[in-house]
Amino acid sequence: MANKEIPYKIYLEESELPRQWYNVRADMKNKPAPLLNPKTLQPCTLEELSAVFCTELARQELDDTTPYIDIPDEIIDFYKMYRPAPLTRAYCLEKALGTPAKIYYKFEGNNTSGSHKLNSAIAQAYYAKKQGLKGVTTETGAGQWGTALSMACAYLGLDCKVFMVKCSYEQKPFRREVMRTYGANVTPSPSMLTEVGRKINEQFPGTNGSLGCAISEAVEAASNLEGYRYVLGSVLSQVLLHQTVIGLEAQAAFRKYDEKPDIIIGCAGGGSNLGGLISPFMGEKLRGEADYEFIAVEPSSCPSLTRGIYAYDYCDTGAVCPLQKMYTLGSTFMPASSHAGGLRYHGMSSVLSQLYDDGLMTARSVKQTEVFEAAQQFARVEGILPAPESSHAIKVAIDEALKCKETGEEKTILFGLTGTGYFDMYAYQKFNDGVMGDYIPTDEEIKEAIDRMPKI
Ligand SMILES: *Cc1c(COP(=O)(O)O)cnc(C)c1O
Repeated sequence: MANKEIPYKIYLEESELPRQWYNVRADMKNKPAPLLNPKTLQPCTLEELSAVFCTELARQELDDTTPYIDIPDEIIDFYKMYRPAPLTRAYCLEKALGTPAKIYYKFEGNNTSGSHKLNSAIAQAYYAKKQGLKGVTTETGAGQWGTALSMACAYLGLDCKVFMVKCSYEQKPFRREVMRTYGANVTPSPSMLTEVGRKINEQFPGTNGSLGCAISEAVEAASNLEGYRYVLGSVLSQVLLHQTVIGLEAQAAFRKYDEKPDIIIGCAGGGSNLGGLISPFMGEKLRGEADYEFIAVEPSSCPSLTRGIYAYDYCDTGAVCPLQKMYTLGSTFMPASSHAGGLRYHGMSSVLSQLYDDGLMTARSVKQTEVFEAAQQFARVEGILPAPESSHAIKVAIDEALKCKETGEEKTILFGLTGTGYFDMYAYQKFNDGVMGDYIPTDEEIKEAIDRMPKI
């Protein structure tokens, strides 16, 4: 193909920002299974979901049929402060690897939250504000989501209460300060402020907390406060929907140069960035217009897709959230404390789970030392210091490019570079000191958590 010379960065004009999110569920033959009310085990109604989430977001959560959903102008205006994000051709990495493959990445770290999380934070805060709420509560693990939400809430004048997983609160004090700078109230979880938190503290004295536990605390806090709702940074279908700006922009950038990826790779924690990146391409595949290979990359210490089961499970430790059918390790599964690479959530987006179950997407798990090796290699040639989460995708992109070197195939690889790793220097330090280990849970450990799952 006689392509125009492709620049290092393919920029889109502000006017080319997507005006609608793409809802891949509309094109899925097998829809994701409905959320269930944890008390009645019946599918959640709009009314029930609206008690926890903002009404408009609850509506988006339940919408399996509308393919395109308008992005409100106020959200577009906010997006303009840091979007469109360029699509970068990793020429330097290609050269270092000596591969005939073309490697592209979509970088989402160009904002203070340092990740893609802001794409959904502003949407969720906007709908909360529009509903006349006073504030929102949430959980944060590594801290990117809490930061993103704090930024969005500050912009719109909403109160923001963040329950931050305790080990992260202690390991990343500056993350906390960023959130406080944006006016958020940050509490280490488990705390003594909620019933769930007090119970977990009593049951597991000295616990370092977990995402599942922080979610339960945030939900309880929202339900106890007049004019507050709970918002979540990943896993939910509404979050995946908002993140489709990533994939839509990537698609538009490729089109400018008549290019098309063969393989699309993303890291998978709760699945929102990967889902957002692949959705528009998956839509083409589902409609029979094009074919792509999609690869989800997860840590081998928390392998929900590759070693979990597809079943209804709790989204949180306290079992207050709706039940979701997903690939899961069980809500009581805790990744080893030596795992520093993020992506620690036990479950997975129900949309991605269904696509994976239908064989439309594949998944791989990678060890954290390999992930940090890939991060270091990438940082040294491409300049950007990647988040450990993002580096899972880098690792598999490099693997695929090296495969091309062996076979001589000139495949085009796209991966999601979700963010920067400036607040992960404790993990980088362990890697640089050569004291980072790999932990792979045994079949017995995984079975134990899966056996504790609800039987539905
Ligand atoms: C939160 C986060 C992820 C993982 O979350 P998903 O919902 O799976 O996208 C990946 N990378 C970064 C930088 C993050 O902050």
